[in-house]
Amino acid sequence: MISDTKPFKKIGIIGGGISGLTAAFLLKKKGFNVTLFEKSGRVGGNIQTVEVDGFRIEYAPNSLLKSPRLVDLIKALNLESEVLKADANNKKRYVLQNGKLKALPMTLAKMATGDYFSMKAKMRLLKEPFVRSKSPENESVAEFFERRLGREIVERAADPFIAGIYAGNPANLSVRAAFPRLYELEKEYGSLLAGSLLSKSEKAPKDFPRTFSFKRGVQTLTERLAEKLGNSVKTNAQVKRIEKHAGGKWLVATDSGEEIFDALVISAPAETAAKLIENLDSNLSARLRQIYYPPVAMVFFCVKKEFLAQNLDGFGFLIPSAERRQILGTIWNSAVFAGRAPEGYHLLTTFVGGARNAATFEKSDAELYEIVFDELKSILGLRVKPDLMHIKRWRKAIPQYLLGYERIERGIEEFERVNRGIHFCSNFYKGISVGDCVKNAYRTAEKISRE
Ligand SMILES: Cc1cc2nc3c(=O)[nH]c(=O)nc-3n(C[C@H](O)[C@H](O)[C@H](O)COP(=O)(O)OP(=O)(O)OC[C@H]3O[C@@H](n4cnc5c(N)ncnc54)[C@H](O)[C@@H]3O)c2cc1C
Repeated sequence: MISDTKPFKKIGIIGGGISGLTAAFLLKKKGFNVTLFEKSGRVGGNIQTVEVDGFRIEYAPNSLLKSPRLVDLIKALNLESEVLKADANNKKRYVLQNGKLKALPMTLAKMATGDYFSMKAKMRLLKEPFVRSKSPENESVAEFFERRLGREIVERAADPFIAGIYAGNPANLSVRAAFPRLYELEKEYGSLLAGSLLSKSEKAPKDFPRTFSFKRGVQTLTERLAEKLGNSVKTNAQVKRIEKHAGGKWLVATDSGEEIFDALVISAPAETAAKLIENLDSNLSARLRQIYYPPVAMVFFCVKKEFLAQNLDGFGFLIPSAERRQILGTIWNSAVFAGRAPEGYHLLTTFVGGARNAATFEKSDAELYEIVFDELKSILGLRVKPDLMHIKRWRKAIPQYLLGYERIERGIEEFERVNRGIHFCSNFYKGISVGDCVKNAYRTAEKISRE
């Protein structure tokens, strides 16, 4: 819908990752005069697909999950024909148990009947609907799952999955902030099992794949956004300072000069946001600065299929901390998505570091290759060194919604109320997945168009 009352309003967006690009695209579509400032020479932020010797490598997100706003965005960008559905086997996810890969049961029936969990754990699982307690203030993800489902489920299912999603530690993450849907299910239905059966989740079109990417990789999404934004995007344009200006407006300073805007969207990482708002709210600035982003190294192995003993019939595997391994898990990219590796080869992405094992991130590339090779030799039966190895390091990978995160949320709400016209839309606020970032960009664009 194009607004005919606001085209003259100028909006500045700081940061050209998926959050900032989506907000800018939606605002431009509504008729606002938009300028997006991106510090680096390219847009996309975390989202980056590269081609190396015929392998299509994802530096950060590998796959996307269907959600209503993400599907809306893909349709608005006319990208439906570029969408690539994950292989049907992607639902099979392995977890390392006593050094061996075991398929994690993905339905309640399979959890309760299969041999993945012990009999004691299965009995405990069936009691979940009768657990009467509710989440107290400041409960961690580990405490929440243990209270509702028992210790074994935390160790064998929640712990590896949290390493896979957040590269984080379930004992430190806030359940209310990191998994708001589970928290709400308990609050509303008194049970996760009953809640997941009875609740109505957000409706996304049925004919769209649940897990997907794009034929040319996830970067297709950010490239198309940038294309639509055209010269509204300024790259190599680091925002150095923002200031209150007369008439409720905001000044943005870069090395190229100063510009005045009616509203600003902060879509940069927490550390940058902290610097930019320091003079406006030193308390919130200090809190944002403390948001922990653990380091993650993505180690890519391109291997001939014949040199792997394991049949790659799933999404990949995750490792519980109790197994005490040096890697967090491995995604079997070429088994999940077509066109990721040349014929006869597999592309594997191994995650190293995270909150659990931050020190390993500091090892040299050669040491990391050795570590990953040894682990994959033992777990997947990899017989020879890969034909190609590649690495991408994220010194600050994914923001952790730690215990006490609610104070940051409240601080941001109060800040936006006092500093009218400034909006936060970044992965450290209201969700880390690409789907969450897109949803928040829609929320931000709608809020600005109502002001
Ligand atoms: C290793 C890894 C794996 C992931 N895997 C998945 C996955 O499989 N599925 C999924 O859904 N999500 C995944 N995520 C999460 C998801 O990719 C991110 O949360 C999301 O892309 C973040 O987008 P953003 O726009 O909020 O921030 P960013 O992508 O961090 O973008 C912020 C931008 O701000 C710019 N910037 C910084 N300072 C300034 C300044 N002063 N002026 C102007 N610009 C500035 C930066 O250069 C950057 O481009 C993964 C993330 C990582 C790191």
